[in-house]
Amino acid sequence: EVEADGNSESFIKIPEIKFTKLFINGNFVDSISGKTFESIDPRRGEVIAKVAEGDKEDVEFAVKAAREAFDHGPWPRLSGSARGRIMMKFADLIDENAEELAALDTIDAGKLFSLGKSPDIALSSGILRYYAGAADKIHGETLKMSGELQAYTLREPIGVVGHIIPWNFPSSIFFMNVSPALASGCTMVVKPAEQTPLSALYYAHLAKQAGIPNGVLNVITGFGPTAGAAIASHMDIDKVSFTGSTEVGRLVMQAAATSNLKHISLELGGKSPLIIFDDADVDKAADLALVGGEICVAGSRVFVQEGIYDALEKKLLEKIKKWAVGDPFDPSVDKTQYDRILSYIEHGKREGAILLTGGKPWGEKGYYIEPTIFTDVKDNMLIARDEIFGPVMSLMKFKTIDEAITRANATRYGLAAGILTNNLNVANTVSRSIRAGIIWINCYFAFDGDCPFGGYKMSGFGRNLGLDALDKYLQVKSVVTPIYNSPW
Ligand code: ADP
Repeated sequence: EVEADGNSESFIKIPEIKFTKLFINGNFVDSISGKTFESIDPRRGEVIAKVAEGDKEDVEFAVKAAREAFDHGPWPRLSGSARGRIMMKFADLIDENAEELAALDTIDAGKLFSLGKSPDIALSSGILRYYAGAADKIHGETLKMSGELQAYTLREPIGVVGHIIPWNFPSSIFFMNVSPALASGCTMVVKPAEQTPLSALYYAHLAKQAGIPNGVLNVITGFGPTAGAAIASHMDIDKVSFTGSTEVGRLVMQAAATSNLKHISLELGGKSPLIIFDDADVDKAADLALVGGEICVAGSRVFVQEGIYDALEKKLLEKIKKWAVGDPFDPSVDKTQYDRILSYIEHGKREGAILLTGGKPWGEKGYYIEPTIFTDVKDNMLIARDEIFGPVMSLMKFKTIDEAITRANATRYGLAAGILTNNLNVANTVSRSIRAGIIWINCYFAFDGDCPFGGYKMSGFGRNLGLDALDKYLQVKSVVTPIYNSPW
């Protein structure tokens, strides 16, 4: 286990970049235009690879391959257990290459190596195994209709799926999407984020090695408005699963509506509250409040009950002072995002929030921003309402449980929430009253394959993880038949 020391280069072995082309129908190919784009290591702003830039025509080819694999190929026709066995092998290959994969994500997304290695890659193979185990447990029901009829339902794979993936967790979000789709017998086209294309291509290679048939899993690297939009509006894609910003989610939904009314699920932004009650442990509360930055569930609105407020503020400052650049308070990944975060910070100051700490660029290389805490934040300020997707926390003081619930819910989003208290009644009341897809009591940012995750309100719809996620990739067919030689 390597310690974070702020000098990540000292312990990351920069991997050889083996896969930079589009993966279509089991082969790595150049884009039709021949264009490439640069993948940049945000820690130093250096180019690490030139990656094939897929566009509409490439998506067309990938969808053709996926369609053929769905309509005539073996994958949807295999038994669930046969699919499951191949997925298990895929998961083993991920584990065997875990260090290299973690290093790829690190240089691509600027993540700390130990962070990439422990939760993200291990979570990825874990998710794949969970759905490998589910593949042979997909079945319908028998229904006793009235009169002389009976029926059964089939749960059939929905068809060709498009997955559009963001950059913040390039591996685990890839597998949250791909694994239940594979288990269900779907075929797919995946578009990783333009900031983090490398691990997805590596996974395509491992999928082939594991025995996933050609055309089942295609990867198109490229940009959102071109490759991504081509997926969202494609007439022959049956479902799109999108993870990313609310803004782009809206475009994807529009494109689905104006093209073929494909099914969609959206996993969007959040402005998740963390509610810390007087009886919470200050040290633990400060640690949990600092899990954050560029994760969509970041506890960016921290509500603190008045009795513990001063102690918590002091503890947060103490902890932040000990950090160096490269600590898991994630760096911002590119210049656009970096500028956006700094402009939110300026906005916060103008609106009258008090800057407790941070607020400035951090270090000399790469796009890092100091961990930033605002106090005296009002619920209607922009920094309390918008998803900032950076290391900016708003501290807010409250008195009563009712006040905490009302203010925590005063957001368009509903992805996650945290509650810190040892009082069972308070925890029960608050967790049932918060409109969010996941509630963490006395923990934060805890995920696993079996635990569904997804949004309420404008954080989206459809669930990732758990058996619920299979429903996104299946559709129900009812088969009705008379029981006897009835008048039918
Ligand atoms: P984030 O803020 O997390 O980067 P985005 O919503 O910008 O989220 O991007 C998430 C994914 O959506 C990326 O793969 C990106 O390329 C893709 N994307 C961006 N714009 C579009 C679009 N107009 N249509 C489809 N996909 C898009």
